[in-house]
Amino acid sequence: MTRRVIPIVSGSQPVAPTARSPASGLSALPPLSLYVHVPWCIRKCPYCDFNSHQAPEQLPEKAYLEALRTDLEQALPNIWGRQVHTIFIGGGTPSLLSEGAIDQMLGLFRAHLNLWPDAEITLEANPSATEASRLQSYAQSGVNRISLGIQSLNNEHLTALGRVHDAQQAREAIESAMNAVARVNLDLMYGLPGQTVMQCEQDLRALVAFGCEHLSIYQLTLEPQTVFAKYPPVLPDEIQIEQMEQVIEQTVAAAGWQRYEVSAYAKAGARCRHNMNYWTFGDYLGIGPGAHSKLSFPDRIIRQARTRNPLQWMQACGQMDGSHISEQRQLSPEELPFEFFLNALRLKEGVELDLLNRHTGLTLSDVLEPFDRAQSRGLLDVGHDRVKATALGWRHLNELQAIFLD
Ligand code: SF4
Repeated sequence: MTRRVIPIVSGSQPVAPTARSPASGLSALPPLSLYVHVPWCIRKCPYCDFNSHQAPEQLPEKAYLEALRTDLEQALPNIWGRQVHTIFIGGGTPSLLSEGAIDQMLGLFRAHLNLWPDAEITLEANPSATEASRLQSYAQSGVNRISLGIQSLNNEHLTALGRVHDAQQAREAIESAMNAVARVNLDLMYGLPGQTVMQCEQDLRALVAFGCEHLSIYQLTLEPQTVFAKYPPVLPDEIQIEQMEQVIEQTVAAAGWQRYEVSAYAKAGARCRHNMNYWTFGDYLGIGPGAHSKLSFPDRIIRQARTRNPLQWMQACGQMDGSHISEQRQLSPEELPFEFFLNALRLKEGVELDLLNRHTGLTLSDVLEPFDRAQSRGLLDVGHDRVKATALGWRHLNELQAIFLD
């Protein structure tokens, strides 16, 4: 999962348009994706700030699926008639769910949604919960892309990260995933406690050798409210991190992957369509505990969040009164430039300029001032039809994105 900034304020009632709400209106709605949150893991990793909870001995699959059904049914009026291009089942550890549960879940989506025939359907899996037969069954149910949380192939580092799998299980899971589906992403982390540059390179070379189509490579950061924030491990220093990043850039490029986003590397034609929709400010309906949505209407754009606690979310869904939505707000035109560029500038090639109008209703004149400021500092490259971060802007992405906050 990628880290994003989603400004949301409280308010659970449906939002009516206000005089300030629309930018200049949307002539067509952006592509729509579905995100499904599965909130359980075998145990909580000490660096993790996602909405994940240690799984009970017996997963409440039946109650979870029933709540997912009512969550989706209550959301349908917001997406009526729209085609869903991608589905991402994330977590948590979705591969803790049984084959039957994933089959039922995908059946539910097919029955209720206008699903694109060639929809990308990704499932996140962890090596500790990915028996080969289970991944094959998921694929038979319609999953066509698997994203595996490998993180490292070094047992000492896996232990330091609190992961419940070892390197051998990780290797077996990669083999199983690649046998089950053609499209596999591997998550790798660097800057791990006690990690040397050479160990980072060894991890990377070992993963690259599997030849899957996509890699997501993240630096370990200490997030607030995590065990690591309270008891920080000793991490590599800035110089080592810089060297690791150089090694990653060179090794991955030499092996045929292209870096197309801050953390994402893909072979030709293998970019993650679901994440591309986030980064190009497309729409997404998020269902499940703590899931976030961004939904457009001809005259407004809203953000929503579901209740985070799994049990409370399940109970609230059953009441069928909208109380499973803990936060909802309408984006004001003033917020849209930051919201749009926060995402779009993560893409190395940037985006077409006219996407700004198509997905926000803003026009170029609405962003001329931040464009000028970012260009004068050498951070932004504005061409006749595209806008993207310069090499300097890419290195100082937070600074560049913040220009659109003012
Ligand atoms: S497996 Fe992933 S989601 Fe679960 S606790 Fe660890 S980092 Fe968080």
